[in-house]
Amino acid sequence: MTDRSAERDRLVRLMAARGVTDRRVLAAMNQIRREAFVPARLAKSAYRDAALPIEAGQSISQPYVVALMTQALELNPPDRVLEVGTGSGYAAAILSQIVSEVFTIERHGQLAATARERLASHGIRNVMVKHGDGRHGWPEYAPYDAIVVTAAAEAVPASLRVQLTIGGRLVIPVGARDAIHELLRIRRTGADDYEEESLEQVRFVPLLPGRTEPAGKRATEG
Ligand code: SAH
Repeated sequence: MTDRSAERDRLVRLMAARGVTDRRVLAAMNQIRREAFVPARLAKSAYRDAALPIEAGQSISQPYVVALMTQALELNPPDRVLEVGTGSGYAAAILSQIVSEVFTIERHGQLAATARERLASHGIRNVMVKHGDGRHGWPEYAPYDAIVVTAAAEAVPASLRVQLTIGGRLVIPVGARDAIHELLRIRRTGADDYEEESLEQVRFVPLLPGRTEPAGKRATEG
């Protein structure tokens, strides 16, 4: 296997140069081999600061966007985190290095299954992957200290906000399809109180409603 640790080092230094200051985020990016979360033919591009195509017509987010969103969650080691949009599993892997438990939901059965395998092959045991519609959150394990949505919603789903702890943070791109999206951070300040701030302009694949794509032969539910 090619050793890409020098490329990984370079990427982490680039993240710091681009303004990522959270040491836990930078350390996690140093731990996770991004090349293992992209299709094999793209391994040589894994440490470019770019989104790349993955299976099922989806994409693995740009490293800078993963770093920015993870930093925006203001994580602490005991936290429990929900991710909507597992995709490749890379962002979940980064989260797994920082917090105690990660719950992640993916609409495409094939992607959920592949992400499970990739996480297991990294020896990561504190991530639970579910095949389903993440717009409803994962009520069984709520509340979460932080929730991150890695696909763009037209509006903030109410069921996600109520699955935050008091003090919890939700980071989500919001905006119309095919538009530039606003990266929002919503902080739950009381049972019925939320504060909202806009962090950045970003561009994401859409958070899709409705039926989840079947798992196909390889995947299992939940
Ligand atoms: N976090 C990912 C980025 C994934 S791209 C990574 O690190 O690679 C966004 C993902 O959200 C896609 O895989 C897409 O299938 C998924 N998605 C879209 N709508 C969804 C929904 N309603 N519930 C769960 N996942 C959804």
